[in-house]
Amino acid sequence: MTQITPQPGIMEIALYVSGESSLAGRQDVLKLSSNENPLGCSPKARATFAAAAGDLHRYPNTDHAGLRRAIGQVHGLDPERIICGVGSDEVLQFVTHAYAGAGDEVITTEHGFSMYPILARMVGATPVTVPEAERRIDVDAILAAVTDRTRIVFIANPANPTGTMLSGDELERLVQGLPPQVILVHDGAYTEFAGGFDGGVSLVDRHPNVVMTRTFSKIHGLGGLRIGWGYASRQIIEVLNRVRQPFNLSSAQMATAEAAIRDVGFTAHCAQLNASLRQRLRESLVQMGIGCDESFANFVLARFADPAEAEAADAALRENGILVRRVAGYGLPAALRITVGDEKGCARVIDCLGRFMAARR
Ligand code: PMP
Repeated sequence: MTQITPQPGIMEIALYVSGESSLAGRQDVLKLSSNENPLGCSPKARATFAAAAGDLHRYPNTDHAGLRRAIGQVHGLDPERIICGVGSDEVLQFVTHAYAGAGDEVITTEHGFSMYPILARMVGATPVTVPEAERRIDVDAILAAVTDRTRIVFIANPANPTGTMLSGDELERLVQGLPPQVILVHDGAYTEFAGGFDGGVSLVDRHPNVVMTRTFSKIHGLGGLRIGWGYASRQIIEVLNRVRQPFNLSSAQMATAEAAIRDVGFTAHCAQLNASLRQRLRESLVQMGIGCDESFANFVLARFADPAEAEAADAALRENGILVRRVAGYGLPAALRITVGDEKGCARVIDCLGRFMAARR
């Protein structure tokens, strides 16, 4: 049979591994493996999605004007500087597609989100991974890795899967240290859980080479619908719109996202609940003798004595119908990433891990 050969480099692209969603033979699975909102989405968003079924024969509008206006109003931003995509993954892809290519370098960090190297390789660029310092992004390590082939630096802040965060001063030092033609992507997928953080808006406003990305998948509970957005200078947004398919978002996606972002009461409630349960979860883990840094996101990173103990803890959780995320692929083989669930979900995790740790003493 004739071998049909893909473009060079395609087979080096890793396949993305998503959080597991089912356990064979169990109905009562508690899914804490994908950082989803345990409360679901806003009831107003759900009703809007149902109503959107009436207009399925119409093409959606191509400029996302209504959704961009809503995002602009809620966050106090110029809608002309916003772009929307199929999840923030697609916005990250627009940036990579438009600004990096074969022979270029794209910087990511040791425990960084796994899509960044995938996106770099998709455009033929080389991902360059720099070390972190105790599970925190290391500004100096990034700056030391910049070469004249660097085009993009990707950071998530708060970071996934560590949950740690850079301070405003560290962010400023990072941007100041980058050559002005290198784009810093400040991925704010978990911004709303960090409490009072602007997600990188002021950084974008001060520096023309910064792009902020955000998502409806986390705080807004719409992971299944796939909507994200980005904020940057007008010049960059004009560039990104040239690599965007005209009908990338459906009418249902746009209408539902608009209802979700306008329901600011629901958003605030979700953030508040997450903050209190995240603290309870972390304190309980630490009391049991499990390592746990302060998290600024909707998950915690539970650190065990060694990879074997993490594996055994994962097995104990699974036996109790609880799915969390193994993060060995993120350079953290002795850790598990646990999404902060609702009150009952957190209690189930604490009970299960408490019994697991007690049995090891
Ligand atoms: N950035 C980070 C740091 C993430 O953790 C995720 C989701 N796993 C994304 C971006 C992509 O999210 P989405 O495409 O659903 O907006």
